Amino acid sequence: MLSKKKMEIGIEVEALCNKCKAATVHVVVAIKSQDMVRVMCKTCQSLHRFKAPESKGVKKAAKVQKAQKVKLTPEARESKKWNKLLLAADPEKAVAYSMSSVYAENDIIQHTKFGLGVVVKILDPSKISVVFEDGVKNMVQNLK
Ligand SMILES: [Zn+2]
Repeated sequence: MLSKKKMEIGIEVEALCNKCKAATVHVVVAIKSQDMVRVMCKTCQSLHRFKAPESKGVKKAAKVQKAQKVKLTPEARESKKWNKLLLAADPEKAVAYSMSSVYAENDIIQHTKFGLGVVVKILDPSKISVVFEDGVKNMVQNLK
């Protein structure tokens, strides 16, 4: 029986991934010789030299999962929420933005430059926070 799996481009092999810090499934992408095999990690998509996994003491799943957990920053979470608002906004209900108007939260506005927007916060009687496709902008309201 062969001790080593025969390397072939396109096959899946278990290899050590430096990025994942674990033995993960890799796809063979290039072979120069049996000792110089390039593989791509299916978990993190990084390309590197094939490194045989150690048979003992390599914890797989738990470590991989930890490395993959991406925590959203509060800003990213907020912007996701706003994106949803924007997607749900009905353009038919949008009113043309005017600096002299007074707005309420969730009002849908149409801005000549930024396009469709949703009022997310009333900052003070003369300032509102509006989410546009470009991001959140502070706008003037109730200008006398
Ligand atoms: Zn990896």
